[in-house]
Amino acid sequence: MKRWVRNAAAILALAGVYFVSGKAGLKWASVNASATAVWPPSGLSLAALLLFGYRLWPGVWLGAFLANFATNGGWLPSGAIACGNTLEAVTGAWMANRLAGGKGAFDHAQTIFKFILFPSVLSTTISATCGVATLCFTGLAFWREYHLIWQTWWIGDVVSDVIVAPLFLIWATRPGKESPARRAEALLLSLVILLVGQFVFGTWLPETKSYPLEYLAVPPLVWIALRFYQHGASAAAFLISALALWGTLHGYGPFAGHPQNESLLLLQTFMGTITVTALVLAAVASERKRAEQAEELLRGQLEKHAGSLERTVADRTARLRETVGELEAFSYSISHDLRAPLRAMQNYAAILQSDEAPRLSGEGKSYLDRIITAANRLDRLIQDVLKYSRVGRLDTPLAVVDLEKLLREIIEQYHGFREPRAEIEVRPPLLAVVANEAALTQCISNILGNAVKFVVPGVAPRIRIWSEAENSHIRLNIADNGIGIAPNHLEKIFRIFERVHSDQTYEGTGIGLAIAKKAIERMGGEIGVTSELGRGSTFWIQLPKPLPQKDGRLA
Ligand code: ADP
Repeated sequence: MKRWVRNAAAILALAGVYFVSGKAGLKWASVNASATAVWPPSGLSLAALLLFGYRLWPGVWLGAFLANFATNGGWLPSGAIACGNTLEAVTGAWMANRLAGGKGAFDHAQTIFKFILFPSVLSTTISATCGVATLCFTGLAFWREYHLIWQTWWIGDVVSDVIVAPLFLIWATRPGKESPARRAEALLLSLVILLVGQFVFGTWLPETKSYPLEYLAVPPLVWIALRFYQHGASAAAFLISALALWGTLHGYGPFAGHPQNESLLLLQTFMGTITVTALVLAAVASERKRAEQAEELLRGQLEKHAGSLERTVADRTARLRETVGELEAFSYSISHDLRAPLRAMQNYAAILQSDEAPRLSGEGKSYLDRIITAANRLDRLIQDVLKYSRVGRLDTPLAVVDLEKLLREIIEQYHGFREPRAEIEVRPPLLAVVANEAALTQCISNILGNAVKFVVPGVAPRIRIWSEAENSHIRLNIADNGIGIAPNHLEKIFRIFERVHSDQTYEGTGIGLAIAKKAIERMGGEIGVTSELGRGSTFWIQLPKPLPQKDGRLA
């Protein structure tokens, strides 16, 4: 179908529906033939313009013109009134689009209030003002009645925008598919509403008894709003309103018993209020549901990602461990194999030194000395590398270690740690730790070796050793009076081959502390240092404290 034909058909359809519903509303016009408290076309045209666009405005004008012409027979007043009605619909739709979220106004509580204020309450003053003025100007009403007619006209339009417009706007999108249980619940709720409507506004109570029971409509509306959101709330509010209107017009229910226009105005106010309440509740409930669904979705995605992340990390760690293991094995075997030819070089150099020395020139002797020194250094380096890779490869079974006994043994074994070469003060008691004795011996020897090595030439090394308990750990401190370490070097000295001092000043391989760190960490401990340049350093080792057993022993 061509576009303009479709357009024209839509305009005519809107005009038709406007006319029929308008004529039905005007049936209950009592203050003036053209002004009624029941005016469905207002909400209908607002919804139509919001759903299909402003281009349908001629349908509003035509429908309004026909409905009024059929009532008062005047071309001019009907045309003018129709202009007011059209202006109201267009302004209302514009306000809803600009300020209240357009056709989605009923998705959020905030936009519902804006919809009530702008299109419903404000834009409707246009047609009331324009329409009643036309009636008065053309002699169809007296100016003294202006206020009363205006009020009726305006309330009829407001309530129509509040009840009829949401019904169309909300039901323009289909409700989601419901489970059989929820469909049964919806049916039950509809029945409850029908029964309440019939009881409060219908014929079950005698016509003369108009008890103020209208509040009974609230609980089922709240129920339906919370369970079936905007679709349920708008339909239920419309159903109750229709029942209430029918009852009131036939003289039943709490709003009957007043002059008809008064009854209708009271009824409209009631219907508007419960509809807004139900719609706001429904919007809040559906917003909460959407938030819950979004949260659930997010949690699901997070769990999925966390799972795959965990698997990736486990995979990579396994691969990394494998690679590190291979590298360690590789460096171990290389270092090991390097020692054999090196030992041959050392041996032949020693033979040369003892057997051929008299025949060598002074220069030749010096070269031979340098070969032997270099070979010895290389041997030390290889041995240290071997120790380093062994720390990572071997099992380190843990047991309770008596630190005091261990230290005495270490000091005994190496004459460099004894007086007069060094003065070592062990402050008892040294508390027991959980460690691997061989590995710990290696670490402490390395630290003590450095403590006696890194002193100003000519200064006798003085070392103090003490321990302290810290929660579940024991901290062993080894303080020296050495040259100290600059703050920017404190961390790097624990890395392999990192040296602060050159080999000429203080010989070494740069592996001792790396071995200590690796070994201590494998035992579940920590190692660190505090130092002051020129005053000395304090190396500390932190290891787990043994747990006391039932029989009082440590384990
Ligand atoms: P090495 O002693 O063979 O050089 P280490 O790994 O044991 O290797 O030590 C690394 C570096 O840390 C040393 O070269 C030295 O510069 C510094 N260092 C270690 N212990 C001390 C200490 N007690 N006093 C000053 N500097 C130290």
